[in-house]
Amino acid sequence: MITQVQKGAYLIDTMALGLREFVAAYLLVDEKIALIDTGYASSLNVILSDIRRIGLEPSGLDYIVVTHVHLDHAGAAGSLVKKATNVKVLAHPKSVKHLINPARLVSSVEEVYGQIAAASFGKTEPIPPERISGVEDGVCIPLGNMRLRFVHTQGHAPHHLCVYEETNALLFTGDSVSGTYPDFPVFVPPSVPPSFDFLGSVNDLRRLMELEPRLLMTSHFGVRQASRSILEKEIFLLNWWRDLISFEKEKGGDVESITDTACEALAKRFGVNVKEVPGYVRLNIKLAVKGMLEYLDRLATQG
Ligand SMILES: [Zn+2]
Repeated sequence: MITQVQKGAYLIDTMALGLREFVAAYLLVDEKIALIDTGYASSLNVILSDIRRIGLEPSGLDYIVVTHVHLDHAGAAGSLVKKATNVKVLAHPKSVKHLINPARLVSSVEEVYGQIAAASFGKTEPIPPERISGVEDGVCIPLGNMRLRFVHTQGHAPHHLCVYEETNALLFTGDSVSGTYPDFPVFVPPSVPPSFDFLGSVNDLRRLMELEPRLLMTSHFGVRQASRSILEKEIFLLNWWRDLISFEKEKGGDVESITDTACEALAKRFGVNVKEVPGYVRLNIKLAVKGMLEYLDRLATQG
């Protein structure tokens, strides 16, 4: 489903894995057309029909920007490149090799989610090298009246970037901010394995604050009002999350028991009264626990 956020800016619900309001993509329509993130490869048809629904053709896409290589963000990029003959993919320079050859990406997803779940993400097609460019931090690209600025934000993953549309002060956050789910409306910090960096994340949020965005266009899920205090709250949440997990780890908890505690603590913090956490949400919370535990382990071994 596609909805207009404001003139020239659209939110696409990619209906990831059949779930509503789980994974978003965004479309910016000016003299040039840019799709920001693509959802899973299995969402390809949703993206194509949503683009057509507002009277455009997928072949008219000029840019696909992927905030990072995780398959809920970049999964459909390769298939879209086949449909959109003029499109250029823009990504963090560290992403480029993985998007040209997604074999490693797919195998690490199979490792984390298991083969059956990974298959439901769809077939991740490679992007031909001549159709993709790495974009450095601070680079700007005009779409017409709108202008995209790329901001490297590497706390969630070292190959992550945010996109700031300067004219309307729209910040496309990727996974630099917490995620929320309609069936369990808490905010889950984006601390996923294998390379979540706590201090990096806090720095990212401070940099994003300096941009003074008006709206956060989040991947999980949708548009949030932006303000300094909302981004401060994200930093506060990250600190709380680190302390919670580190406390449970010191008590000797394992990933499963800490995930149970984390679900309860998140529900309490956000005043959510849900007896049973939906399976896909629990899995995402478990990943966020795992990523933070791995960060804490790295910190301990580095002294
Ligand atoms: Zn994501």
